[in-house]
Amino acid sequence: MHIVCIDNGHGYDTLGNRTPVMPNGKVIREWEFNHPTAKKLESVLKRCGFRVIMASDTKKDTTLVNRVKRANDGGADIFVSIHYNAYKGIWGSHGGIETLHYLNSSKGKNLAQQVQRELVKATGLRDRGIKGRNLYVLRRTSMPAIICECGFMDNLKEAELMTDGNHQWKVAEAIGKGICNYFGVKYVPRKEEGGQDEKGILYKVQIGAFRDRKNAEALAARAKKAGFDVYIVKDER
Ligand SMILES: [Zn+2]
Repeated sequence: MHIVCIDNGHGYDTLGNRTPVMPNGKVIREWEFNHPTAKKLESVLKRCGFRVIMASDTKKDTTLVNRVKRANDGGADIFVSIHYNAYKGIWGSHGGIETLHYLNSSKGKNLAQQVQRELVKATGLRDRGIKGRNLYVLRRTSMPAIICECGFMDNLKEAELMTDGNHQWKVAEAIGKGICNYFGVKYVPRKEEGGQDEKGILYKVQIGAFRDRKNAEALAARAKKAGFDVYIVKDER
């Protein structure tokens, strides 16, 4: 069984890694994209039969030394780090996706190509290509390693995608597909929640019941944001 080490990039409070002030007055931190997307990628890869190690799985920052140590000690076959890019921290029309690999690693380059192709296909964002870099996590990991830069925090349209659960799923599925291609493993697509199974039996997933419609709508909005297809059913009794 192949082992993938997933890295979520930074901690919640890591300095610098956030959008400029959005039109609604809010600022989105890179962690708000990296962390949920890393968790989604974990579920994609497990579904496809991989073993997963999380190099960092908390709100607190994990040092680069520890991220690399977890990958190396865990015997990971590849290391995949999830990030959101930034140019100058000022809104601009620059944008798109790029995947970084260690300069002299041909396996890393191949992995980057597979993942970059799927990311561009799935998101429709600009293809900035793959790039060889001499960065710590790429250099010090003892397996092929990539950094996925899944959009720009200082491009307003792409910044708005950061906390969109559907976009996070698209990115996670695309990275998963790229990894499957790299290993020659069959990609297993995601099943729709509440879907029909054998013999016409319907397995429903319910996450709340309320007397006040407003409370139902509030929970539905949260579930939607997390990437689920949601509908409210009126149950009169
Ligand atoms: Zn980053």
